[in-house]
Amino acid sequence: MNEPNELTVGLIGYPLKYSLSPLIHNSAFSFLQINGKYELFPIRNFLDSQKGLRRVINAMRSGTINGLNVTKPYKKEILKFIDGCSPTVKMIGAANVLHFRDGRIIAENTDAAGFLTDLHSFFSSNGYALPMERRALVLGAGGAAQAVVFSLLKIGWQVIVVARNSNQAIELCNRFRSTQLSTRSLTINAIRSIGSINLIVNATPVGMYPRSVVPRLFYEIVSSGQAAFYDLVYAPYESYLVQLAKQNGQIATGGIGMLVEQAALSFEIWTGRTAPREAMRKAINSYIEKSSIGE
Ligand code: NAP
Repeated sequence: MNEPNELTVGLIGYPLKYSLSPLIHNSAFSFLQINGKYELFPIRNFLDSQKGLRRVINAMRSGTINGLNVTKPYKKEILKFIDGCSPTVKMIGAANVLHFRDGRIIAENTDAAGFLTDLHSFFSSNGYALPMERRALVLGAGGAAQAVVFSLLKIGWQVIVVARNSNQAIELCNRFRSTQLSTRSLTINAIRSIGSINLIVNATPVGMYPRSVVPRLFYEIVSSGQAAFYDLVYAPYESYLVQLAKQNGQIATGGIGMLVEQAALSFEIWTGRTAPREAMRKAINSYIEKSSIGE
């Protein structure tokens, strides 16, 4: 039960064991002295996930839950349960935020804007001058890759998607129908044949805690040239692939900046307040430094 006037928000998905979202959002509530709490609502993706999704949607309609983040495997599935969505969600076909407005559940996607904002600060903090012709390689074709591809196309990049499941990559390309978007197979030879690449984005969970085995192919791809490297993986804080890219003289970053920015944008949708990004970032940094997931 929530206390009177308490804002209850949370995260649906599965598994949620390693989620850092409660830490980020609860630190924001406490920094701004908002009477709010962020909870995890795991919904197992076997047996009856539909029932679980319906239950949280009903809780939103009744006011027991005021807002939700959505993570895998429900970013697409959730769209069957909502009343409306933003143009970005329509384009990407996936949502990571739900809010209740004027009696309707509306879906938003803050992954895309979170990625773009952090990509800009990554480039500017490294003094990286963007070339006229901008070509990016995106590894993976799941929910996060869709948001990344959408964002890069929006700012005029040429994008090549490589995924181990070629049907998934083709589906992603078909969704955006852009002459700037294509796919290649996930082999080092196919990637070498592309020519110069300015940016590589890892949108797969490869290297994400608690998995520590990174396929050799990923090492080869990331260090095959001098492209800037952006890893969506945020735990370990400095992923194996980020470490490798830096050793190879490339500029590289992990996904914490995006994680904080997508959370900040979600927080602003639910509360109407400017998110305390510094406090959110500090909470996560100090947690990662102390815990084994930062290793
Ligand atoms: P997803 O929908 O499950 O997609 C994952 C993609 O990676 C799929 O294309 C999958 O291919 C591929 N993949 C998985 N393991 C692979 C491997 N060993 N080799 C090659 N490809 C592999 O997951 P998602 O939601 O897109 O998330 C991807 C990663 O981004 C996760 O680690 C997530 O935590 C991270 N993420 C970070 C942020 C942030 O704010 N920093 C935001 C969103 C997501 P198959 O279908 O063949 O498995």
